[in-house]
Amino acid sequence: MVRIAVPKETTARERRVALTPEVVARLVREGWRVRLESGAGSSAFFADDDYISAGGEVALRDELFRDAQAVFSVQPLEKPDLERLESGTILASLMYPWRDPDRVGAMAEAKLSALAMELVPRITRSQSMDVLSSQATVAGYVAALLAARESPRFFPMLTTAAGTVRPAKVLVMGVGVAGLQAIATAKRLGANVWAYDVRKAAAEQALSLGAKTIELPISAEGEGGYARELTEEEKRLQQAALEGEAAKMDVVITTAQIPGRRAPLLVPRAMVERMSPGAVIVDLAAESGGNCEVTRPGETVEVGGVKVVGPLNLPSELPVHASEMYAKNLYNLSKLLLKDGVLNPDWNDEILAGMLLTHGGQVTHGPTKVLIGG
Ligand code: NAD
Repeated sequence: MVRIAVPKETTARERRVALTPEVVARLVREGWRVRLESGAGSSAFFADDDYISAGGEVALRDELFRDAQAVFSVQPLEKPDLERLESGTILASLMYPWRDPDRVGAMAEAKLSALAMELVPRITRSQSMDVLSSQATVAGYVAALLAARESPRFFPMLTTAAGTVRPAKVLVMGVGVAGLQAIATAKRLGANVWAYDVRKAAAEQALSLGAKTIELPISAEGEGGYARELTEEEKRLQQAALEGEAAKMDVVITTAQIPGRRAPLLVPRAMVERMSPGAVIVDLAAESGGNCEVTRPGETVEVGGVKVVGPLNLPSELPVHASEMYAKNLYNLSKLLLKDGVLNPDWNDEILAGMLLTHGGQVTHGPTKVLIGG
């Protein structure tokens, strides 16, 4: 039997757990043995007893990694845990190699096979393993709720004996997975929603959710369905055109990202200063540099009465469903690792090869290798 270990997450603000009892039951049926650290699911409201009923085992941290052939977690393991693992152990978690290149070096040195969940290739076959999509769905939903909560206005139109309330005007900039969910959620709350993206395909999707679109003569479709970085001239044009639009809004939600780069600047300070007091900006890109110039990650700042919220780890705000989705992504990945009850991954498989950061003592992911100078 092949053993998976699941630690309790130790990163600040992390409330998700890598496996839920439902997914543990499926894995056990398929030939895995799953050992979880006691309390691993408690922040997401999954009790040790639920895991035991599902066929899992519960242990203290000291015992957790004994004989483990795979470790599934949400955040990457810290170095002291890496030292406890046998060479050849498979790790699957978010890895953020650019944040801590030393950790990547330590994983390579320990001859661990590290799979970065954020590097699942965006191909049809791997959609069910795509944690960027599953967690962005949660983040987009929470961002719209957060904006509604921070706004001093109603989102819906109301006709009451005390008068009529106009619906809030919400602009979503960046219409990928998170942006679409933010649009859908703001629409459900009754707001009037506008959407802006540099990819033409995004406009169609935003329209299908009932948003109006802001169209500019800039098209920046990059590779693999992502956006490319804009030229300096395009950035200037974009900011000039969006400034007038943003000034009319009660809420702006920004979600724009460029893979492997700092998030693009869409809302400079001057744009914030043109917005009305009481307006709210929720910057979902806070973690990767921010789409708004005044964003401070993890904080809310106020500029001329405009609140700028820079939330971190929004999926952890809904730990139950974020964990359920993450666990199902891992379950689907596990099918590429275990064949006929034996751990036998094909490291040349397009999906595994795309996610593999370290293997056999080497850093195997090209961009990460360049990053750490390997
Ligand atoms: P992302 O998080 O990388 O970026 C969010 C959005 O920001 C994107 O829509 C992008 O176009 C936009 N953006 C970037 N720069 C911008 C700028 N300067 N101004 C305005 N907007 C800007 O994107 P994502 O949510 O991961 O999705 C990217 C694409 O991949 C989408 O088309 C999505 O449908 C697609 N996708 C495909 C699969 C699959 O086939 N398996 C899975 C998930 C997503």
